[in-house]
Amino acid sequence: GKPVCECNTCYGGPHCSLFSPDCAADVNSGDPLFLEPFWMQHAASSAVVIAGWHRMSYTFSDHSYISRELENHIRRVHAVARNAITKGKHLIFGGGSTQLLAAAVYALSINLSSPAEVVAAVPCYPDYKTQTDFFENMHFEYDGDALLLKNSSDTTANVIEFVTSPNNPDGNLREAVVSQGVSVGAIYDHAYYWPHYTAIPAPANEDVMIFTISKLTGHAGTRLGWAFVKDEDVYQKMLSYIAEAEQGISREAQLRALKLMKTILNGDGMELFEYAYKKMSDRWRKLSDIVSLSKRFSIQEVPSLFCNFFEKVRGPSPAYAWLKCERNEDTNCTAVLRAANIIGRAGSLFNVEDRYVRLSLLKSDDDFNLLLLRLDKLVTQDDDRK
Ligand code: PMP
Repeated sequence: GKPVCECNTCYGGPHCSLFSPDCAADVNSGDPLFLEPFWMQHAASSAVVIAGWHRMSYTFSDHSYISRELENHIRRVHAVARNAITKGKHLIFGGGSTQLLAAAVYALSINLSSPAEVVAAVPCYPDYKTQTDFFENMHFEYDGDALLLKNSSDTTANVIEFVTSPNNPDGNLREAVVSQGVSVGAIYDHAYYWPHYTAIPAPANEDVMIFTISKLTGHAGTRLGWAFVKDEDVYQKMLSYIAEAEQGISREAQLRALKLMKTILNGDGMELFEYAYKKMSDRWRKLSDIVSLSKRFSIQEVPSLFCNFFEKVRGPSPAYAWLKCERNEDTNCTAVLRAANIIGRAGSLFNVEDRYVRLSLLKSDDDFNLLLLRLDKLVTQDDDRK
């Protein structure tokens, strides 16, 4: 018969009930569906219904691009997670944190007398380059690896550094590294600075800190990010960027985010973090157990650290595995994995060798279990087993 719905790539047949044994483990994207079961468990309390007449006006019509109610709830979620000092900082929303990354570059560079060099230490999240190149103008340009500033002899260059902590792809906690030129600001991308993915050694307290609902609740499609900004002038410039680009952020996105924050804050507010940490650390353990049998592959080491949220030393639970092919001939690690039916993201996208490949640990249980199955097979077949 005819399929009644579109099947997941791994399933076929009339009711999507037949597992196709040859399907690939697709762990390419950072889509955080690992949290879907949590929201299924909280389906009623997180549901949103919006009457047709509700809040129809432009967001500027009440003199605010920002729902104060949502702002207060976000500040409370940070207080529970103990991952950021938000007091004394302005909060601004963006269409995903993606838009705020661009808004911050704009705000830090618009009044400079010479263009800013925008850098990030490698391996780094690719969108800093793609977005900065896309929007490049007379005020800024992308200049690559923060450790290899092109103009390193030019001590007067204005530098804006993206600092991703914990880092995508390798999960390391990072600090700004630029020592050449004149730093006009660091943009701290804390998308993964939640107990889900890392120990929180201390609450973050930088001048520009960017977070996103995508990696906090998993609602990547809601497209809502927020920045905490210390400096009034930088805040005003970021606000004018959002006003110019978007005329503010969708009220529906803000309303859904508010409902999710309220659900998170139910009781002592710890449940989501405990759930997410348990799931991610469990995934990491299972993956590490398999990779540890192999001499052909290795993954990054993530140290156990004291965590301000759990108030104890806790083990690793990174969002991604940063896998390395150790054999000399395996210069294209993505192809090695692809031959074993695993789709990862090539190292070259993160500005390093293709001997590395990023595997997302954020996807659904099905995707993750398939990854384990395929990886186990690859490692077990391997002559180089330890
Ligand atoms: N920063 C980092 C480091 C990311 O990994 C991502 C998404 N994968 C983003 C920013 C963008 O997230 P969003 O636009 O969904 O908020």
